[in-house]
Order: sequence, then structure tokens, then C-alpha cells
Amino acid sequence: MISIVVPVFNESASLGDLHHRLTQTLKELGQSHEVIFVDDGSSDGSADVLRALHAQDRAVRVIRFNRNYGQHAAVVAGMERARGDVVVTLDADLQNPPEDIGPLLAALTEGVDVVGGWRKTRHDPWLRRLASWAVNRVASAVVGVRMQDYGCMLRAYRRSVVEQILASRGVSQFVPALANTFATGVAEVSVAHGPREHGGSRYGLARLLRLSFDLLTGFSLLPIQVVSLTGILVSILGLGFALVLGLRRLLIGPEVEGVFTLFSILFVFVGLQILALGLIGEYVGRIYQEVRRRPPYVISEVLE
Ligand code: UDP
Ligand code: MG
Repeated sequence: MISIVVPVFNESASLGDLHHRLTQTLKELGQSHEVIFVDDGSSDGSADVLRALHAQDRAVRVIRFNRNYGQHAAVVAGMERARGDVVVTLDADLQNPPEDIGPLLAALTEGVDVVGGWRKTRHDPWLRRLASWAVNRVASAVVGVRMQDYGCMLRAYRRSVVEQILASRGVSQFVPALANTFATGVAEVSVAHGPREHGGSRYGLARLLRLSFDLLTGFSLLPIQVVSLTGILVSILGLGFALVLGLRRLLIGPEVEGVFTLFSILFVFVGLQILALGLIGEYVGRIYQEVRRRPPYVISEVLE
């Protein structure tokens, strides 16, 4: 059996169409399946649409959060309840067609336990694509698994990987990156991508930034080690600078000009120090969250 997990945040306009196309696709594939919709605190009537879908289709299960916790929390909640041997995640906005699930499953061959969709031609604003490009580079580097598209959420995971993801939630919220650290083999399949038909992206800048920071510090100590190395380098440079100034003072006399040059150099280092503090704070913050052990989400309703 396969489980389809769909995070939903104010998607009432596309849910009916999505359910129809999804069911059609799975029927053609001859797959026994369940569809788990996770309502991430929608306020546009998505809940009513989901209740209706549940009433008409036994394969539909619904989990509802009490408020908005974010796409990745929703995906994890869906995975937690999924019963399938394979879990496929899919966005609710139909930017990725459900029809591409077939090729995705076909790529899940021997030795491959994660298959990612790759949006070769993307229909998103260029700023969004630029951000994704950066995220891909960072994710590939920190996870150590090169992928063209970490951001595409049309993906398939084997049960074994899903278990590992659930067991290591504290590490990161970024499900595709987390999955790749546990996968024996990963594959990528080119999938279609269209513009959003109803409304704009449900992602704000703040949430994207949050996710990038999470990615940066969730998988390695590399960022903080780079800062330490920079610190060592700067100290050596500073020492050389002091030597030169000392010699100059003995040979030529005291220097008074160039004070503002010194200021600008100082500002660079002040900036570096603040960056270093921020990075340390980011790691400490992670420890704090781990220690606090607050539940990552609260479920208010389950239909199954
Ligand atoms: N989503 C969610 N919670 C959020 C934001 C988004 O569950 O806080 C869902 C949304 O309903 C959609 C998917 O995550 O099914 C991807 O969101 P969106 O299409 O807005 O992201 P984009 O395509 O712009 O990356
Ligand atoms: Mg989208």
C-alpha cells in the first residue's frame, strides 16, 4: 500500500480537483492507497471540504492542527500516521500534477529508498527561484548528497526512511534533507510544474529564512567551524598589522592619518563578531528547543 500525505493550508479551491485527479491516477496504477490530508490551521473552509471528502471516500484520512505550524510539521504528522510501505508527499496547490506519481514510484527501484521530484522548468517568481538555488547548494553541501531540487515536495520515501525521519525530528524540520541523510540510495525524476492557480504562495519570507537557518545549523557544525577559522586568520592578520605599526613607529614616528581606514576595518570585524554571536545563538537556540521538549504541533481533530 502507498500513503499519500498532503499538507493543506487554505487550499479549499483546489482540494476537490486534487482529490479527483489523485484518485484517478492511483486507480490507473492499480495501487491500494490511502490519502492523508493534514490541515495546517486553514481558515478558508478547507476543513469542511476535507470532511466532505472523507465522508465520500473511505481512503481519505484527515488530521487537523489547532493552528498553523508549517508545511514540514504537517508532512511529519502525516508520516506519523501513514500505514503504507511507501509514503508519497504532494502539495495541495496542484503546481505539481498528481499524475507524476507513477514515474516517481517507478524510480523506487532496488537500492533506492528516496525519490525526489525535480522541477526542471519552474513557474515561480525569479526571486523565489534564486532562493531555491541557494538552498539547494547549501542542502547538498551540509547533507552530503547532491540533488538538483531539494525544495520539490513531490517525493516518495520508503517506510524505513520514514521511520528514521520520525525518530530524529529534533534535528531539523527540513524533511527532504533529513531523508537524504538516511537514504541508502536516492534518485531524481523530472516532474512537471505549473503556476499556482488559486492565490499566491503560502510561504512568507520569514518562514523561508527560518528554514534556511534550520538547514544551515541542523546538519553540521561546519558554519561555526568556519567562523572559528576566520577568527584565527583575523588574529594572525591583526598580529602582523601590530608588528608593522610598531616598526613604523620606531623607524618613522607615530601615525595619525588613516584613522577612518582603521574604523572601516574595525567595522568589518565588529560585523564578523555579531555574525559569530548569531551563529552560536542559533546552536544554543536549538539546544533550548530540544530541552524544552514542547510538542511540535497539536492535533485538534482526526477523521479516519
Ligand atoms: N502549506 C502548509 N502550511 C504552511 C504553508 C504551506 O501546509 O504554513 C502547504 C500548502 O497548502 C501547499 C504546500 O504546503 O500544499 C506548499 O505550499 P506553497 O504552494 O504555498 O509553497 P510554494 O509552492 O510556493 O513553495
Ligand atoms: Mg506551491
